Amino acid sequence: MGEAHEDPVVDLRLDLAHSARIYDWLLGGRTHFAADREAGRRILSAFPAAGEAARMNRAFMHRAVAHLAREGLTQFLDIGTGIPTSPNLHEIVQGISPAARVVYTDNDPVVLAHAAALLRGRPEGRTAYVQADVTVAGSVLEAPRLHATLDLRRPVALTLNALLHFVPDDGRDRAHAVVEDLKAALPGGSALVITHGTSDFSPLAMGRVTDVLARAGTPLQLRGVAEFRRFFDGWELLEPGVTLAHRWRPGRPEDPGRPTAAEAVCYAAIARKP
Ligand code: SAH
Repeated sequence: MGEAHEDPVVDLRLDLAHSARIYDWLLGGRTHFAADREAGRRILSAFPAAGEAARMNRAFMHRAVAHLAREGLTQFLDIGTGIPTSPNLHEIVQGISPAARVVYTDNDPVVLAHAAALLRGRPEGRTAYVQADVTVAGSVLEAPRLHATLDLRRPVALTLNALLHFVPDDGRDRAHAVVEDLKAALPGGSALVITHGTSDFSPLAMGRVTDVLARAGTPLQLRGVAEFRRFFDGWELLEPGVTLAHRWRPGRPEDPGRPTAAEAVCYAAIARKP
């Protein structure tokens, strides 16, 4: 006699490294398994500044969403959320605008298992989690939980941080098509925030990182500045335009002799839909 399960049984495949858990390991988190740590160690030996680069990406996210919350945006859709790392996006934006609504989505079932930490928001606001693969058309935009939380007739801040380099093109222009679909679903006044890995400044080290991830079963496609800029086509870039993540409105004055290797690996920009 089989047992009836309300939810489908998920095979976590913890024998395979996964980007969410490798990233968590690089950030010094606690949610990773042997295969993730092994891939993480190989990444660090190819590119020793990887942990610092991950922290700079998080710091940019904090500045970016705080800026948008102060500009009056109250709805946030974060795709490729990752394993919770405090402060999470909702903690930042609800700290500024307590009634802000946040929908998180990721395709890693391990992120789903930790989603409770993402759902502990301010009573005035609302947070929800959608398990979805962004490359499957409609999986995010048609999710009932998304529409129960966000009103897509009003402006939304869409954040795709350190996600799109895990969407390889496979001969088609897949990553850009995914972004264009999402952009088309949002009304004027919406914002688009993207960070993305690049090998423009350190091709050898980043080539090695790409090899490590390919062998671990997590294809990485780094993109150059022109391809990065193209994600924002038709929308208006906020100052200072496309830049390295640490240079996007840094809280502190910049150190001259920079950027370091860690700083030169991640592009960032924010644009608004006219
Ligand atoms: N956005 C977070 C985490 C980045 S790590 C941050 O910037 O700090 C990349 C995340 O993207 C991981 O959590 C991974 O599970 C998720 N991801 C990768 N491919 C995805 C896909 N096709 N659909 C949805 N999420 C994906």
